[in-house]
This record gives sequence, C-alpha cells and structure tokens, in this order.
Amino acid sequence: MAGAEIEALIRHLAKLPGLGPRSARRIALALLKKRETMLDPLVRTLMAAAETVKICTACGNFDSQDPCFICADARRDGSLICVVEGVSDLWAMERTAAFKGRYHVTGGLLSPIDGIGPEDLKIDRLLSRVKNAAVKEVVLALSATVDGQTTAHYIADRLKDAGVAISGLAHGVPVGGELDYLDDGTISAALKARRPM
Ligand SMILES: [Zn+2]
Repeated sequence: MAGAEIEALIRHLAKLPGLGPRSARRIALALLKKRETMLDPLVRTLMAAAETVKICTACGNFDSQDPCFICADARRDGSLICVVEGVSDLWAMERTAAFKGRYHVTGGLLSPIDGIGPEDLKIDRLLSRVKNAAVKEVVLALSATVDGQTTAHYIADRLKDAGVAISGLAHGVPVGGELDYLDDGTISAALKARRPM
C-alpha cells in the first residue's frame, strides 16, 4: 500500500511504548502531511538527543551532561540518596519537587524468576557511593511489588554496616503500584512519612 520508507516509518513508530500499528499509521501520516512543522523538527530533535544524551556515571540518570544536572547541583543535599528502579521513577520524584537530595538508579529489580540477580543491577556502585561520599541517609523508593520489596531488603542488608540510616517510602502506595503512576501529592506524602527499615 505504501513505499518501503513509509512502511519502515510505520514499523518503527509501532514499536514505541503505547503505540500500535493503527496509531503508528496515523502518526506517520500526520508527520508526512506537516513536514515543516512536525517531521523536520522531530528529526532534528531526535538526532540531537541521540548525539548528546548519555547516562550519568554517578547516578544513572539521563542527561546531556555527565555528571547530570542533579549530581552537579551543589544546592542538592549529597548526604541523602534516593534509590529508584528507573529514570521514570526519578522523574516522578522530581515532578513533586519534594526531594532535595540526589538519586541512584538501580536499572531494575531483583527477580529470581526472570534470572535478574544483584550483578545485573547497579547496587555495587551504590555501595561505593555510600562509602566514598558523606552519605547519611538512603531512601529506598522502590515499588511495592514483591520484586521491589525483595530488592529493598537486599539493599538494606548490604548497607547495614555502612553507618547510614535506611528508610523506605511510607506506602499509601497501592500494591504493585509504580511511582510513575502515582500523583505528586501521594509521592510527597510517602516521602515525608518515610519510615526506617
Ligand atoms: Zn547523576
């Protein structure tokens, strides 16, 4: 029905999270119809993102600078580290503007069923950060799922001799809920009412 380039465009769009073939076709058409206002700026933005965005070697956040803007910001409290599973959770915490410390992204959760062990996550790097910087408290903001809580307990155990306070989010958080799906007020409240682990 369409040329190879258009088919390829639709195929790539359909792989994006939340999109299927139908929405991919609609987007492809919209882009091709509005070349100057939609397609060209998107191409330039994608190329710039691909060239400049990297992973912060300190915390695992995405940014165009390394260390990222949060790690580089001297006004952020370096004695407080919030551990999150992924960058989407970091963004969710940042949206609330309730957290003034720094982050550590694990890059996933322990999951024996899926064969994900501690060596697959950035937990050793967290331990060396805690040892080498003047960290006083680690907040484990992991999801209330079985894997999230398994991971939280594993990290708490590894940190138990590190001389830092360890706390978890107070979960008014629905079981199986991920931070990204929560409204800002719920996250702020869960952070304020965090409890020692
Ligand atoms: Zn960073």
